[in-house]
Amino acid sequence: MDSTPQITHHGAVTGVTGSCHQYQAGHANLLIDCGLFQGAESDRPLHAFGFDVAEVTALIVTHCHIDHVGRIPWLIAAGFRGPIYCTEPTAALLPLVLEDALGIHIPNDADLVEKALARILGQIQPVPYNQWHPLPGGEIELRFQPAGHIMGSAYVELDASGHRTVFSGDLGAPGAVFVDPPQAPERADILVLESTYGNRDHEARAERKTELGNSLKRALADGGTVLIPAFSLGRTQEILAFIEDLLFENNLLHTTHSQPDGTGAALPIILDSPLALRMTQAYRHLLDHWREPLQNKRRAGRYPLAFDQLITIEHHRDHLAMVKRLTHTQQPAVVLAASGMCQGGRIMNYLEAMLPLPETDIFFVGYQAKGTLGAAIQRAQPGDTVRVNNHPTPMNAQIHRLSGFSAHADRTGLTHFCTQIPTAPTEIRLVHGDAKVKREFQAHLANRLPDTSVWVPD
Ligand SMILES: [Zn+2]
Ligand SMILES: [Zn+2]
Repeated sequence: MDSTPQITHHGAVTGVTGSCHQYQAGHANLLIDCGLFQGAESDRPLHAFGFDVAEVTALIVTHCHIDHVGRIPWLIAAGFRGPIYCTEPTAALLPLVLEDALGIHIPNDADLVEKALARILGQIQPVPYNQWHPLPGGEIELRFQPAGHIMGSAYVELDASGHRTVFSGDLGAPGAVFVDPPQAPERADILVLESTYGNRDHEARAERKTELGNSLKRALADGGTVLIPAFSLGRTQEILAFIEDLLFENNLLHTTHSQPDGTGAALPIILDSPLALRMTQAYRHLLDHWREPLQNKRRAGRYPLAFDQLITIEHHRDHLAMVKRLTHTQQPAVVLAASGMCQGGRIMNYLEAMLPLPETDIFFVGYQAKGTLGAAIQRAQPGDTVRVNNHPTPMNAQIHRLSGFSAHADRTGLTHFCTQIPTAPTEIRLVHGDAKVKREFQAHLANRLPDTSVWVPD
């Protein structure tokens, strides 16, 4: 067979969401990820794939973020019956993510959701990290390597008669709490590389815990709520572990706050997101996959994801009561709620109630895609109006951007991933980034790898 694959990008081409790449070589017709479009890209129909779904022989999943897996139920509804390959932790997390995605799109039919999930579960085939796995037909071998992004994340190596293609998925940055940083591939003829932060380096990464602690201290001094919009999967667990560390290490946050009646109470850390709660529970069960330093904390009797001051909210009525209570009392509190880009989820009710209050502090700890409310809030000046839950809402809250918490490799990290491959790739294809970022990163890489063709989509 001709071992040079044909690679087509069906998503995350002109933006950062809806990752979906097709790899065809010999009889193999593989998809790498099948994600949901979000933000400005979210008007795309869920079932319009742009390729013949029945011809796809297998789906390979790099990690469980919704922009990489969110359209799997629609892929199956369109007739995909092949195996879904992923790492073992991803196999544990994937049903939770998809159950939530299905529940949002089919809110009133629990039976249908259950049937769809049962079918997906029957197709998932976990593959251990670092082991070559032959795909049906025998022409292609697959290997997952740690990507250092979130629990279970991997970059994918595909070997077709010695021709090696690597799909980076999302690559993590050094210092991730739960997972080890990625190592560069030993070989790649073609590298399909994410480039979310291809034009800049993260600042303050080393000091991010101190920065978080100081910001929390300042934000809470005037009372009011600190809102942290966070992705249910990955960011939420990292922030919780950082907060546990702050509480443990310097007693900074574990101070008692004066109440109007003179009594004190420990600062409540409120996790108000059913999906984030289930993800956090799943993370606890994946203890064997945690990085060594974190496992050691757990052995020392600490609970990075289940400490005393952590309050979790499951039911919607308790959520509404909490929004009301915190808005009314202005008691210092920290709330983590999804969604990370303020596009739906319980964070919306907090924002609607608390954006007008100057005592409110919003900590952005993740990427805010174009067209999202998160991006609009970041742009807004005090007194501006933004639309929350379809209501014009005055914005008087304090906005903080904590860039050090990104779960994505920055320009230096992405560059190392490419330049440390012993033989430079023939071709690098940049995906998963804004157009301007991709062009800047293209120029940056072309300088360092003169013999590599660096491709960006038009
Ligand atoms: Zn991701
Ligand atoms: Zn992604």
